[in-house]
Amino acid sequence: MDLHTKLLEELHKHFGYDSFKQGQEEIIMNLINGKNVLGILPTGVGKSLCYQLYGYATKSRILIVSPLISLMQDQVANLRLLGEKRAIAINSELNPADRNNVLATLDAYRFVFVSPEMLNSETVLRRLNRFHPSLLVVDEAHCISTWGPDFRPDYLFLGTVVKKLGTPLVLALTATATKKVEADICRILFSGRKIDKVRCSVDRPNIFLDIEEVENDAQKDELLIGLVEKMRGPGLIYFSSKKKADETSRMIGRKTGLRVAAYHAGMLFDERYSVLQQFLHGDLDVVCATSAFGMGINKPDIRYVIHYHIPLDLENYVQEFGRCSRDGKQGIAILLYQRKDLKLQEYLIENSLPTACEIDSYFKSNARNKALLRQEERYLLIEKYLRNGLSQEEMKNFAANRLVERKKSLAKMRNYAETKGCLRKFIGEYFGDEVLPKKDFCCNHCNREDSFEKMGLLFEKKVSK
Ligand code: ADP
Ligand code: MG
Repeated sequence: MDLHTKLLEELHKHFGYDSFKQGQEEIIMNLINGKNVLGILPTGVGKSLCYQLYGYATKSRILIVSPLISLMQDQVANLRLLGEKRAIAINSELNPADRNNVLATLDAYRFVFVSPEMLNSETVLRRLNRFHPSLLVVDEAHCISTWGPDFRPDYLFLGTVVKKLGTPLVLALTATATKKVEADICRILFSGRKIDKVRCSVDRPNIFLDIEEVENDAQKDELLIGLVEKMRGPGLIYFSSKKKADETSRMIGRKTGLRVAAYHAGMLFDERYSVLQQFLHGDLDVVCATSAFGMGINKPDIRYVIHYHIPLDLENYVQEFGRCSRDGKQGIAILLYQRKDLKLQEYLIENSLPTACEIDSYFKSNARNKALLRQEERYLLIEKYLRNGLSQEEMKNFAANRLVERKKSLAKMRNYAETKGCLRKFIGEYFGDEVLPKKDFCCNHCNREDSFEKMGLLFEKKVSK
């Protein structure tokens, strides 16, 4: 039997699917042929299946590095649902006794999930060495580049971890990688070793892209209400401010009678959980969220994603509007653009990084003042830098560079908001993809003749059938 047929058989046997989605088979084939792989596939395609099927096809053990505890637990739960009992997550949720227990009996498992921080421990590494994974997977690998430098320094040492584990095969997976992120992943994770890249376009052809420029808040609110009334949901509206998300949620409820709620980090866990469950079960039409509504949430029938404020960068924007129409039906992403909102974002960026002055005053503070300072995110960052071995001067340089980089990303986002060209093509170029404009339902720059009204109507018809 050839490899292709064998893989299809395993796919059917373990997952019940009859065909691969884009990129999956190529990634698995490359791994089986002993090649390291960087897989860049759009959100929701099925990246997890790549390493899971590889594990089954080669009957080997897999170690998966994952950024969030909730994501790990989701993955383990999904594997269990498929009848796989040999999956486990080792993270801070496990108490030390349980953790030791699991580490002592690793041989019993096929899929082991860990956080990058966990790999910082020599004891854990020694145990994992005996577990002898044949493949190390780094899921959401863009975190190496986007979170590594700011607040997850353990991501930067994954290359060393690979060596300490006897250089197993490595698979890095992500949905959003610019050339820079890609270069960071290659440098940090693969230390320049040869890899195979499987890259699918970030383009989401079933999402119409739209930018609406407004002059002031009143005009923005009016437009938003008009849109929400006109469009069939479910819909998701993103805000950069918790307060604005709350206020607007109430306003929409009042003016349209739709079932709407807010979702952000300022709410209690139980409240958030309840909003999420209602939205997932179709008991809410609209959610007004901040970026806290994110990774790992899977609601395939969200029909529109509106951004009330301009996002911080194109990576975030693509991840966020990518939650629209995962089921492949027609959806729409709208950015409400008001030039003055750029000021708000600049403020948020500046506020998230410590200044040279603040770094100096931190070093001068006594223990009691430090405890007070610690309540602010900026000062917490100083402590993380410290743990990462940065000197006072290095910290200042580092923070100053990050500020410049993040402002550049915002400037690029502004270019997107102000471009006169094809929006799809703009995003493609940013991520190094060749994306051609579509003939119909591309974006509001390409399909100008479809007035917004018409687009709304077409959209409505498509969804309601
Ligand atoms: P990603 O990590 O790429 O965002 P996931 O790995 O979470 O996506 O998978 C998303 C969904 O796609 C899962 O429900 C998974 O079962 C499904 N899926 C994966 N591969 C296939 C396939 N070949 N055919 C159909 N559905 C698939
Ligand atoms: Mg995933």
